[in-house]
Amino acid sequence: MTPRILVLGGTAEARALAQELGAAGVAVVSSLAGRVARPRLPTGEVRIGGFGGPQGLERWLVEHAIGAVVDATHPFAERISVSAAQATNSAGLPLLRLERPGWEAGAGDCWYWVDDLPQAAAALRGLGADRVLLTTGRQGLAAFAHDDVRWFLIRCVDPPDVALPARHEVLLERGPYTLEGELALIDAHCIDVVVTKDSGGRLTEAKLHAARHRGLPVVVVRRPPRQGVPTVRTVAEAAAWAWRQPPG
Ligand code: NAP
Repeated sequence: MTPRILVLGGTAEARALAQELGAAGVAVVSSLAGRVARPRLPTGEVRIGGFGGPQGLERWLVEHAIGAVVDATHPFAERISVSAAQATNSAGLPLLRLERPGWEAGAGDCWYWVDDLPQAAAALRGLGADRVLLTTGRQGLAAFAHDDVRWFLIRCVDPPDVALPARHEVLLERGPYTLEGELALIDAHCIDVVVTKDSGGRLTEAKLHAARHRGLPVVVVRRPPRQGVPTVRTVAEAAAWAWRQPPG
């Protein structure tokens, strides 16, 4: 018998973990931020919305008799992970980070690594490209707002609500994407550079293969550094960890 597990989600891995643990009879609550209008819901019990910072999360953990937490949020979701570390530390609960591996360039790739979105915007200026496929999500788009030289195809799940570059088109779409689809998109819009975060995972990697096929440069934003939390890369490892937790 394992304790009740909170899975902090918003990723395919979090959904897979909730499914696997639920099917094995583990009591799981999945948590989503509520940022996306129509989120893909995990199976089992789900709660939606912020906790109100680390103290709010700590209160919630105690009130809901949670015995262990898996932080399976996106590699670029930083604040919720800090909250999870502080709240579990204060509440004396075990915490595991589930984070999918990042992408790695292969033969024929031409990637430019940068630390953040403002650096990505600066890198575009140096590359001399004109038509950008921008796939970094709707948060942080303001970093590109002052670029009135290039044309941007901005692909995101929900409409952006920040200032955008003067010359752009918004494409509202959610993965998974295919190589054929990404090649067609690149060709139809005469894209000559791709910008992405190092999100990792299979669902959105087709753009990288398509860029390689077309010989396009890719500007890749590095993941923010994380420290101090035991981390696994796969859903199977996270499920095994959950099984090892002593009953509350
Ligand atoms: P963030 O900056 O770390 O989080 C901002 C605030 O949103 C947190 O302080 C927390 O509010 C709330 N929050 C975030 N994740 C939550 C969760 N799973 N359950 C409950 N509350 C949550 O995160 P973000 O970058 O805005 O991402 C929001 C969510 O979208 C994450 O869950 C992430 O897994 C998912 N996502 C993010 C990206 C990305 O590129 N950042 C991409 C795909 C999916 P309180 O402080 O009030 O608790």
